[in-house]
Amino acid sequence: MPSNRADVVVIGGGISGLSTAYYLAKAGKNVVVIEKGVVGAEASGRNGGMISERTDEPDLVPLAVESVRLWPTLDDELGYPTEFVQAGRLQVAVSEAEMDRYLTEKKVGVRFGVHVDVLDPHEIKDMAPFVTDRNLGGIFFPKGAHANPQRTVQAFAWALQDRGGTLLQHTAATGFKLSGDRIAAVETTAGTIEADTVVCAAGPQTALFLEMLDVRVPLATARAEIIATAPLEPLFECALVGNGLYGRQAKKGNLLYGGGPHEWIDVDLTGDPDKPNTPLIRNIARRLADLFPGVADVPVIRSWAGVIEQAPDSLPIIDVLDRPSNFVFVSASAHGFAIVAATGRVVSDLVLHGETSVDISGLRMDRFGTVSPTWREELGWVPALL
Ligand SMILES: Cc1cc2nc3c(=O)[nH]c(=O)nc-3n(C[C@H](O)[C@H](O)[C@H](O)COP(=O)(O)OP(=O)(O)OC[C@H]3O[C@@H](n4cnc5c(N)ncnc54)[C@H](O)[C@@H]3O)c2cc1C
Repeated sequence: MPSNRADVVVIGGGISGLSTAYYLAKAGKNVVVIEKGVVGAEASGRNGGMISERTDEPDLVPLAVESVRLWPTLDDELGYPTEFVQAGRLQVAVSEAEMDRYLTEKKVGVRFGVHVDVLDPHEIKDMAPFVTDRNLGGIFFPKGAHANPQRTVQAFAWALQDRGGTLLQHTAATGFKLSGDRIAAVETTAGTIEADTVVCAAGPQTALFLEMLDVRVPLATARAEIIATAPLEPLFECALVGNGLYGRQAKKGNLLYGGGPHEWIDVDLTGDPDKPNTPLIRNIARRLADLFPGVADVPVIRSWAGVIEQAPDSLPIIDVLDRPSNFVFVSASAHGFAIVAATGRVVSDLVLHGETSVDISGLRMDRFGTVSPTWREELGWVPALL
């Protein structure tokens, strides 16, 4: 039976919850993180590890730029390695439409002071000779980076505990006890924990917790997949994006690649969503072979999936509820790894001070206005019939 009182209870031991809990513990708060499984078992430990200024999503740029600024300091901050590599992010275009999107990203970058170089096809081949001759050029972000998701989750979890925070794994949050316009306690499978403030960072389950509080947020849940090839000799250090794919070469030489489309699914509050291999991995492998014909014969040796939640505009949501007034939540959508170096600071600022100096105005809940009850159907974001 855990201690039945905390200054802050954080629901969810993924990177959003752990990073928030870390900064709260660092500020002297008595923090308890409730995790229904083990840390890193969900999207936070399964993602592509890509870090960038996200100029493809203008409303996310201020938070992402702050995160890119902080990422190089994380290993020292936490005292554990994340395998952070800042060797840039190369985006290769294989179609006119892809190049047009990249040029828009460059324009957004200029607006926010983000350095972006435009490259012609020869410059792309000079940087990455194994890339297709059909490339139409691309762009390069010198501050793009990547890191190891499992190591990063673990680093936050250990650093949290070093700062005196409590991590309860295999413990699910199941509900809330309300008192007036506040949450008095969080109910869990290990008992009830009273809290001054509750932070919900439950990833795909976030909308279910909000529903318990009569708050409706438009979040749909989806599986996304990654393939790992057999190890190759060192080919590139940067993050390398193109043909609708994103990825990196792991320390041991494997190419780790992912990319849409998503498979829409439903999740429940306390169970583990299935993460099977699906035909999508063949689609990713084929597109990777098209992008890198020079290494097209390398076998795929592994694949895995993770579950993300996604708002209609595909952006994170970070906000404080009016009622109950002591409830802060973060839904990172498909961007949680890139922004994590800033997320914990921003969300802990909201808990401690009710405000943050980072511009998250485009990530608040009020951007949705009134949501149509059939928004998922309208977007086609519904689980396929089996
Ligand atoms: C295949 C894939 C590739 C990706 N690639 C990238 C990338 O390259 N770059 C990037 O920035 N982002 C990427 N993402 C997205 C990124 O992984 C997520 O945005 C991020 O991990 C979200 O972290 P989180 O902590 O908010 O949520 P999660 O990692 O989902 O963590 C939420 C936690 O809450 C727990 N929980 C849920 N319900 C309960 C409950 N009732 N009680 C207690 N605990 C509960 C869950 O068990 C889980 O551990 C990718 C995602 C996937 C799946």
